[in-house]
Order: sequence, then structure tokens, then C-alpha cells
Amino acid sequence: MEPFVLNHAPGTGWIEVVCGSMFSGKTEELIRRLKRARIARQRVEIFKPAVDTRYAEADVVSHDESSIPCTPLDTPHQILLHAASADVIGIDEAQFFSSDLVVVCTELARSGKRVIVAGLDQDFLGQPFEPIPGLMAVAEFVTKLHAICVVCGAPANHSQRVVAGGDRLLLGSGDAYEPRCRAHFHPHAQLPAHHAERQTSDVK
Ligand SMILES: [Zn+2]
Repeated sequence: MEPFVLNHAPGTGWIEVVCGSMFSGKTEELIRRLKRARIARQRVEIFKPAVDTRYAEADVVSHDESSIPCTPLDTPHQILLHAASADVIGIDEAQFFSSDLVVVCTELARSGKRVIVAGLDQDFLGQPFEPIPGLMAVAEFVTKLHAICVVCGAPANHSQRVVAGGDRLLLGSGDAYEPRCRAHFHPHAQLPAHHAERQTSDVK
């Protein structure tokens, strides 16, 4: 759902935020928007924080392995150096950038660029995960995606950590987190994975 791109004055930029829990398809949605811009021969640049090395170093890679090349950067301000000739700028895993990202995205949009930012809006305790909440406030368009709760099948707005540890930056895809709805999200409990028991018995 993209209400934009219909009527806007040439040279006018804006910010889109794609947020939600883990497994909600944020990166897939970012890639979909960027690929369509490329088909229209718009110049696209994609960035992610260098801390995110779960998959290929220089690719934005989603869980379904649909990927596009991108540039890993240490700080948001480096985006300004790399994005000068771009029409459209994609930023993935934006929760791992500092809050300077809000200022940087605002500057990019003001200079006429379409800025699409994807990231987690909450940490594993269910707390707002800056800089995404700040970006949602200044963005023209916000898309909130949901996963499916592994316990009951309801829309899942939370990422339940199912391994021990208190590091907010713990990165995980399949093993460390599960999507959970509000009723089945227990941020301060160290739960075993919901399907762990069943999977173990399947192996026997
Ligand atoms: Zn549930």
C-alpha cells in the first residue's frame, strides 16, 4: 500500500518508514519498493549499519533470500556522502543506527530524495527502539507490518526472545526469537521456543 508517488511536485522528497516485529516482512517490503524504483530507472542506493552481519556483508538480505546489493556504514552521516546522486535511498535494519539517522533522513528528504527506512520499532522487552519511533514521527508515510503469533495465529506485534541473554543488540533470525501476539508475549521471561518440544520429538 503506497499512497504516495501519485501527485507530488518534481524535486520533492519524503520519508517512508516500514516497521514491525521480526518475521513481519520489513526487508521484503523494502526490497519490493526499491526494485520497482530500479525498474523505473531511478537511481537507487541502499545502506545498512555495519553491525548487521548476519548474512552477506554487502547485501540487504531478507529471510527468504531475496536480496539486493547495499553498502554497510558505521554512522548515519556517511549516508550523506554516498547518496548524493541517488533518487531513492533505502536503509535496512535502521534500529542499529544512532538517533542521528532522524536528522540525516530529514536532510535527504529536504534535498528532494525519496527515503525508505525499514527497521524494528520495539526491542526484545517491547520498548520503543530508537531511532525508528523518531523516524515514524517525522515520516510522511508509515507502514506497520505484523508477523503471525506462533502460539495462537493472531497478528504478532512482538518479538519473543527464546534464548538467554540481556543484550539489546543480540541479532537472530530463526533461533533467538519468535513472533508473538500481545497475549503470548512475555518480555521478562526466558521461554523455550514454542515448537522446541515438538521438533525434538519429530527427530526421534
Ligand atoms: Zn498469540
